[in-house]
Amino acid sequence: MECGKMYDVSIIGCGITGSAIAYELSKRKLKCVVIEKENDVAMGATRANSAIIHAGYDPAEGTLMAKLNVRGAELCKELCEKLSVPYAQIGSLVLAFNNEEIQTVNMLYKRGVANGVKGLKILSYEETKAIEPNISKDVTASLYAPTAAVVNPWEYAVALAETAVVNGVEIILNSEVTGIRKSGDAFEITAGNKTIKTKYVINAAGVNADEVHDMALPHSFNIIPNKGAYYLLDKTEGKRVSHVVFQCPTKAGKGVLVAPTVHGNLIVGPNAIDSDLNDTSAKDTDLSFIRGTAVKSIPSVDFRANIRNFSGIRPNSDRDDFIIEANGGFFDVAGIKSPGLASAPGIAEYTVRLMEENGAYFELKENFINTREHVRFNTMSHEERAELVKKNPLYGRVICRCETVTEGEIIDAIHAPIPARTVDGVKRRCAAGLGRCQGGFCGPRVLEILARELKVPRESIEKDRAGSYIVRRRED
Ligand SMILES: Cc1cc2nc3c(=O)[nH]c(=O)nc-3n(C[C@H](O)[C@H](O)[C@H](O)COP(=O)(O)OP(=O)(O)OC[C@H]3O[C@@H](n4cnc5c(N)ncnc54)[C@H](O)[C@@H]3O)c2cc1C
Repeated sequence: MECGKMYDVSIIGCGITGSAIAYELSKRKLKCVVIEKENDVAMGATRANSAIIHAGYDPAEGTLMAKLNVRGAELCKELCEKLSVPYAQIGSLVLAFNNEEIQTVNMLYKRGVANGVKGLKILSYEETKAIEPNISKDVTASLYAPTAAVVNPWEYAVALAETAVVNGVEIILNSEVTGIRKSGDAFEITAGNKTIKTKYVINAAGVNADEVHDMALPHSFNIIPNKGAYYLLDKTEGKRVSHVVFQCPTKAGKGVLVAPTVHGNLIVGPNAIDSDLNDTSAKDTDLSFIRGTAVKSIPSVDFRANIRNFSGIRPNSDRDDFIIEANGGFFDVAGIKSPGLASAPGIAEYTVRLMEENGAYFELKENFINTREHVRFNTMSHEERAELVKKNPLYGRVICRCETVTEGEIIDAIHAPIPARTVDGVKRRCAAGLGRCQGGFCGPRVLEILARELKVPRESIEKDRAGSYIVRRRED
């Protein structure tokens, strides 16, 4: 299929990077499309990570990562408020267990100050214990960063992408880019059965960004996929800590953390091992390493409260920094490893500035819509709930009992600007199936609601990625 229309900008990949760039561009007068190979947004690294908005003391001074982490974290707070994304600024601690690690903590403090991180403090064991009572007695000191936060990472991406759509950006799902051809001053992108013509291309393809780059330009960097696995523990463990508790970083990364999630669970992980592009397994070896390392920080974590294990793949690269570069009308936004989530709005601002410096200037709109309504029944007061149910009784029918999610919220997700089409797509938008039973009870009811609202047979509803059908028709 030939797409007759000429776009100004085509973004390849709709993780947090593509979503944030789409959001930033949607403030301007232009024709923009986001092309995503999966059947939903936020299906790569963006949906499986630690969900930390890092304060910004980790990246080396002078790097793009340092600059964009601090700026991104600042913007994230503001964006989550405007676009109704769960976010909590709970602060982080980096624990030291010996003299060598005290030196690391001192180095991170100095680096943080140089990077512009506000409010950093070095705490003694007693001061650390006073704010985080379950830490190990072997802790000798810590670095406290009050600006660190936790967020719902996939809802963050959905919210940015939805706001972009509300402001005129198009999203094409289920369309893998397989070819990019320069044609005069423009490009022709082959994606599934479509040919998309565009003046500018943004490569935000995560672990596939090197392949996408090579479709248009000579090879210049390699993505080195690196897996990190997790435990997600029940809410009974959610108050085990009240800050993000890190250990000192090593060459392999920021190490195993213990942190509350925005939903009130406890997340523990990740490890870091080079992996295949699609290996999201959480193996015994991954998990025993995580358990053994986490209890060094918080000895009382009860892993029997585990409700889920999962892994994400880091789009690491053979460069020491984010790769945000212009090449004619082609822009790489690649190697967006951690702190990519924290940096996303900073990355988007930087990319759009780089585009402008390279001739891709678009005027700002006067009527940009920068809000997003989202009913969250389980955070409402009794009076607010009663008022809502009076207006629409579907908000009075609880479907997910673990997270108290109502039928009204599920229907909102199915009819959102980027509609949920799968059972997990509903989960990512309104948390149905995110709790203790992990959809064991509400999953079949969500499937029924999806089939009813979309007027399709139950057999055509997928759990998650394309082809993950749940119900099969019996052949008699
Ligand atoms: C284990 C782990 C822990 C992490 N913890 C944190 C953290 O706590 N804080 C933090 O700031 N960062 C963290 N990160 C990093 C963060 O998750 C990433 O930096 C961020 O998600 C990268 O987003 P992205 O949009 O660039 O990539 P992705 O989210 O992977 O998105 C890329 C998208 O491109 C699509 N795509 C790929 N190829 C094509 C193609 N040919 N055609 C069309 N579409 C294509 C993919 O389907 C995907 O949707 C962590 C990462 C991992 C894996």
